[in-house]
Amino acid sequence: MPELPEVETIRRGIEPLVVNKVVDHVQIHNGSLRWPVPDVLVDVLPGQKARTVDRRSKYLLFYFEQGTLIVHLGMTGHLRLDASTSKRRKHDHVEIVFTDGTALRYNDSRRFGAILWTEKDPLQHVRLTDLGPEPLTSEFNAAYLYQLSRGRKIAVKPFLMDSHVVVGIGNIYASEALFRAGIAPVRPAGKVSKAAYERLAQSVTEILTEAIAAGGTTIRDFSNSEGRPGYFKQKLCVYGRAGQKCVSCEALVKQVKLGQRSTYYCPVCQR
Ligand SMILES: [Zn+2]
Repeated sequence: MPELPEVETIRRGIEPLVVNKVVDHVQIHNGSLRWPVPDVLVDVLPGQKARTVDRRSKYLLFYFEQGTLIVHLGMTGHLRLDASTSKRRKHDHVEIVFTDGTALRYNDSRRFGAILWTEKDPLQHVRLTDLGPEPLTSEFNAAYLYQLSRGRKIAVKPFLMDSHVVVGIGNIYASEALFRAGIAPVRPAGKVSKAAYERLAQSVTEILTEAIAAGGTTIRDFSNSEGRPGYFKQKLCVYGRAGQKCVSCEALVKQVKLGQRSTYYCPVCQR
């Protein structure tokens, strides 16, 4: 499943390929995604120019002149820019054909992704309005985490992965950030000190920034390609390393289930 850094990498790859292009027509071959693809796209998008491609959490926001296309890649979704005359691939469910003869194709074998449309402020859309702050903005900081977590018994890892707290921190990034900050993932969020949250906010920022940079260096050509960025190429310190030696001490990495998610940590380095 693409995580926030991958979605940001995709945004950076796709934006220059679609901005200032004008839609010629839209074809919905299979509109049964997580939510139905609105049929109205076929009528409203033609003639509109793509202005920018933005991101909120793991949603890509394609701003057109009269509205915004909100795209979520779900588990297996990806976007590709092809020549519109090239053969459609299996699972290409939606295509936006531009007047220059290119087509943005949405492919999704498991169809857990989504394509939505709004003519209002997309940030106020029902899927986006309740989301917590972006992790790479100044809104996300130690004071915010500390204040929000007081009195909370939930463990700090699921707290960090709650999209009402902060968006886009998946299992891998939460595990790695907690390791780097030296915080045990099982610790109640309300018992984590201000100083520890300083380290955690810092670690999250660093890890996501590194992942985006790694994605940027491995980005492929989104034209006529798989449309997938290079996935998390960073070295993982704890995630997926149960029973192996910790990278900074002699202890073995432990694995526990926390909120039904596999959780990895060093029992010595993380307190
Ligand atoms: Zn250790």
